[in-house]
Amino acid sequence: MAVEMYAGIIIDQAHPALDKLFHYRIPREMTEKVQLGMRVLVPFGPGNRGIEGYIISIDRETDIPPEKIKYVKRIMDTYPVILKELIPLIKWMKNEYHCMAIEAIRCFIPPGLRRNIPEKTQKIVFLKIERDLKGKIAQVETRSKYMGEILRILDQGDGIPLTELADMAGGAPLSSFKNLEKRDWISIEDQRVYRDPWDQPLDTIQNNIVHNIEQTTAIDIIGKGMLNPGSIFLLHGVTGSGKTEVYMALVEKTIRKGMGVIILVPEIALTPQTVRHFKQRFGNNVAVLHSRLSLGERFDEWKRIYNGLVKIVVGARSAIFAPMRKLGLIVIDEAHEDSYKSEARPRYHTTGLAIERCREQGATLVLGTATPSLEDYYNSAENRYIRVSMDHRIDNKPLPEVEVVDMRLELKKGNRSVFSQALYDGLRDVLRRGEQAIILLNRRGYAQFVSCRSCGYVVKCKNCDISLTYHAKNNILKCHYCGDTRHYPKECPACKSTYIKHFGIGTQKVEHELNRLLPIARTVRMDMDTTSAKGAHQKILNDFGEGKYDILLGTQMVAKGLDFPHVTLSGVIAADTSLNLPDYRSSEKTFQLITQVAGRAGRGKTKGRVIVQTYQPDHYSIRHASSHDYIGFYHEEIRIREQFMYPPFCHIIRLLISGENERSVIKMATSIEQWIRQRIDNDSLIGKGTIELGAYPAPLEKIKNKFRWHVLIRVNKERIFIERYHEIIDECIKGFTHGAETIAIDFYPTSLL
Ligand code: ADP
Ligand code: ZN
Ligand code: ZN
Repeated sequence: MAVEMYAGIIIDQAHPALDKLFHYRIPREMTEKVQLGMRVLVPFGPGNRGIEGYIISIDRETDIPPEKIKYVKRIMDTYPVILKELIPLIKWMKNEYHCMAIEAIRCFIPPGLRRNIPEKTQKIVFLKIERDLKGKIAQVETRSKYMGEILRILDQGDGIPLTELADMAGGAPLSSFKNLEKRDWISIEDQRVYRDPWDQPLDTIQNNIVHNIEQTTAIDIIGKGMLNPGSIFLLHGVTGSGKTEVYMALVEKTIRKGMGVIILVPEIALTPQTVRHFKQRFGNNVAVLHSRLSLGERFDEWKRIYNGLVKIVVGARSAIFAPMRKLGLIVIDEAHEDSYKSEARPRYHTTGLAIERCREQGATLVLGTATPSLEDYYNSAENRYIRVSMDHRIDNKPLPEVEVVDMRLELKKGNRSVFSQALYDGLRDVLRRGEQAIILLNRRGYAQFVSCRSCGYVVKCKNCDISLTYHAKNNILKCHYCGDTRHYPKECPACKSTYIKHFGIGTQKVEHELNRLLPIARTVRMDMDTTSAKGAHQKILNDFGEGKYDILLGTQMVAKGLDFPHVTLSGVIAADTSLNLPDYRSSEKTFQLITQVAGRAGRGKTKGRVIVQTYQPDHYSIRHASSHDYIGFYHEEIRIREQFMYPPFCHIIRLLISGENERSVIKMATSIEQWIRQRIDNDSLIGKGTIELGAYPAPLEKIKNKFRWHVLIRVNKERIFIERYHEIIDECIKGFTHGAETIAIDFYPTSLL
């Protein structure tokens, strides 16, 4: 007698009450077919309504009395939609990110599958008779020239899509094909086709690159390290040092061993060149995954990966979930970018997930960047990651010279424009020489902080060493770390100037200025407003690449890994805006941004020039960025982090409470704080592990009519304390989820706004 089998199923309903494993009996006739990771239909609830779920365990026994267990109704697909090797990640995500199991599962499933997007097929024509068709052609040609043409073409080779063949035969009608089919000379068969999102022509492959010594060394070290499953590398290479070539060589090594690769880029639309490089080198062996694809395209790319038809996936954040079976390598390019953090449930950080996935599948992880996050670099300093550095640009091209322009002096000289004399002159030179420029307006922290335009003084919190946030609503300044407030100063506390005000300008205003000052320049603006349409990014970047514009002006978007050889000048309008964000990472973000923008200039034959406008020219992040000195910056910043106990010296947990009723939001935030505080008081272990706990209004106090408060906890980094907090938060949240407010638990917040 065959043994009974039970399936542990996660129901496809995102509800906290249903967030557990439900057991179903597998009917005898299904036992041969059923597999872990399959999507099934099961009866659910008192009415036994059919509902979908996913099998994440199969057991021979269960504690539940057999008569209470219902049967699985139906298997939905012919294959497991979640790879069994990825199932452990679901549980891991649930614990690590405090999401429901079904929310984790949905990350692994293409949306097209759940909505049952049909497979696409096309008709293919095959010959059913022996070649050398001269006789047959003569036979039919008198009746129909089309039938003759079709046979003539098929005589050269068959297996041609019907629509193409009809075209080739000069517009042959379907009846001609039917006629030939009726004679049993040809057959017309349906074949599965994969929708291909890649719609751009590719140049011929130029594979004659000779790696330089730094590249060779990097490839060698990482290549050797790949024999050691689960290794993590930090590839710290200056902008233009040729990291992409290193990735390619590693990809080559990996696929030669029959293993797969996942390459992550911050945002596909902003990094079309990287994707293009991979498509060009590896052609059809590359699948591209990102959220701008249609459901059908996404599903088909997913299916090509699943079926093993491609070994390389290039994609944005969510491609970390790609169904690649024998995974050998994950590359995270521009690993410092914020877009690797998911701000929707599950709130994962891609690096954390990648580390776990590599561990699970025995793969190697490479984090590539010119400006590592403090955490990543610290991890390499502590030997948790293996660091490989590339300190020179390809062909020893110099890094561009960076000039820091002190905007306080400009003001003294009577220049109230957003452009300094130096930047204006620089742009004029670029135009005269027929070259190109990129101008970045740092929009992070738009109109948020208050500073003096005469001396550069920034209003900061006296307890926290963090700039105060301007609240237009009641015209006050507030610290979101400790809640301290103060009035808007009428004059600068440092120099008594009345030129103190909140800071912020928009890209539109800069564009307007630019058109006024340099009317002959052809300027294109790239920001949220101009890129909302599908393909808009691509078009702007293509046009700029083809020389249709002289100046590309934009927000952070223009600072990513673009490689335009004619750009010889990049300018930053207001480097300080991100410096004064109420965030412990503001110096880091500013350093990264300036370095990245600087990296856009001088990548071609002509030397590049960078102009950084700022009110704080002496700030260490601006100083070090302008001398291209990451290490110098790191040492200074890490000291401050240690002194104020910020990451990587502590772990921050953020609980964001939001809702339409301000009083209920505040009440919930403070009750949660009190609940946790009580825990701390009663538990000596966690008391020791807690550095700080508090409930404060979030800096963005109201978004879309919802009030926002957060509870911030700073925890000692040791695993034991963090584990403990996972439990505490889980327990705490259970008691607080009944109101109209939502609580977002973020164990890895990258933004505290
Ligand atoms: P990074 O990503 O490190 O900023 P890229 O990978 O974009 O740098 O490389 C910069 C440029 O140098 C690219 O145009 C690339 O094609 C070119 N390049 C890379 N390696 C070599 C090499 N060994 N020889 C010549 N050119 C190279
Ligand atoms: Zn002042
Ligand atoms: Zn404060």
